[in-house]
Amino acid sequence: MESSFDVVVVGGGMVGATLGASLAQANLRVAIVEASELPEVGELNTPALRVSALSVASQRILQSFGAWDVLQETGVCPYTRMLVWEGEDVQGTLFDSADIAESHLGHIVENDKIQLAAVDRFKFLGGVWLCPKQVSAVDFSDSGAVISLATGEELQAALLVGADGARSKVREMANIGVKTKRYDQQALVATVRTAAPQQDITWQRFVPSGPQALLPLQGHHASLVWYNSPQEIQRLKALDDQNFLEELVETFPERLGGVEAILERGSFPLSMSHAEYYVKPGLALIGDAAHSVHPLAGQGVNLGILDAAALAEVIVDAHRAGRAFGGLHVLGRYQRWRRSDNAVMLKALDAIQQLFSWDQPNVSGLRSSALGLADRLTPAKKLVSRYAMGLHGDLPRIARGEDL
Ligand SMILES: Cc1cc2nc3c(=O)[nH]c(=O)nc-3n(C[C@H](O)[C@H](O)[C@H](O)COP(=O)(O)OP(=O)(O)OC[C@H]3O[C@@H](n4cnc5c(N)ncnc54)[C@H](O)[C@@H]3O)c2cc1C
Repeated sequence: MESSFDVVVVGGGMVGATLGASLAQANLRVAIVEASELPEVGELNTPALRVSALSVASQRILQSFGAWDVLQETGVCPYTRMLVWEGEDVQGTLFDSADIAESHLGHIVENDKIQLAAVDRFKFLGGVWLCPKQVSAVDFSDSGAVISLATGEELQAALLVGADGARSKVREMANIGVKTKRYDQQALVATVRTAAPQQDITWQRFVPSGPQALLPLQGHHASLVWYNSPQEIQRLKALDDQNFLEELVETFPERLGGVEAILERGSFPLSMSHAEYYVKPGLALIGDAAHSVHPLAGQGVNLGILDAAALAEVIVDAHRAGRAFGGLHVLGRYQRWRRSDNAVMLKALDAIQQLFSWDQPNVSGLRSSALGLADRLTPAKKLVSRYAMGLHGDLPRIARGEDL
């Protein structure tokens, strides 16, 4: 087995595979070590449970190494509008891509499809896919990294990247601290079949027990997210499909489009976390290994994909200039760039989560008025739409549609 690489990425999820494919496209020698077998491609009629709202910036990044073309063949669901409202006050705020002269705000895509498309391109571009493989130890410094696998094999690289998710073993082995806030809330996600075909709109309603959201999927399918206390989510999970369906129809707004069947459901604990550092000599963290957020605004994987694009740019710039890229003088640029941007988003999403959790009549009135006012404030709406599209701040080249 080949054992010497420019970069070894631990974790071949959506974010790790994006970094791997971007670097492989720039002719670096890259290996990805992934612990779990790849998911099977689901049939078109049964969408997988985990889906993400991908921003336009993420779309461009996936496009830069050919994964977006793969995804379009397997099916993505574009949306042009987002409606947000509180309680029964359906007026709320409508964000529309037409207001900012764009064709769409984003796409809803199944996570498995995103991972498979990125891994497919990574392999096609010459990347080495080591799966299923476990990492048992890592050793790193600015002169390089050694990654020991549970099989006894050893890999050498100029840089080790931890893309192994929120409970990152690489982060732990590197002794990088993480600040974590666990929410007293869980998300129950359900894939449903509806009588009416889904439209090109996502919606989110805020009620005191937590938000309720609908993400359209292809054809007569949608993904529903029901946030509530862990106790209530456990109760809902224990219901049989028929009783769950009845509660869902009773609780969710009528605009669901006639839910006919629950195809799948699952629940997820929610937390926010931020690593104290993203880099050490010979090591970098990206994606959920570096930060995780409350999913109410669908930002988690989009932030991770931006990390991957920014780190790829920093590495490739140094490599082309004939400089080593494992030292802090190069990696520090990635950390300064992404950690401050992510910190702002983490704080904003936490504040929104708290604001919409306060169950006080005067606060509720304030929120409804704010949403009504925001609907009439065109510049504010345009700004939020551009944030949702991921088109704000200092974007990596491939997120702007340029070459890496
Ligand atoms: C309910 C819910 C809804 C969400 N909705 C959205 C949304 O709409 N939009 C959005 O942007 N984000 C959303 N998110 C967040 C998003 O799912 C995460 O941010 C995203 O999955 C992170 O991707 P990642 O590749 O960094 O990590 P992961 O998806 O966790 O992937 C990590 C990979 O590393 C592998 N791995 C782990 N440990 C090891 C090891 N020791 N060795 C080798 N491999 C290892 C794992 O098998 C996995 O493949 C949502 C999250 C939740 C909970």
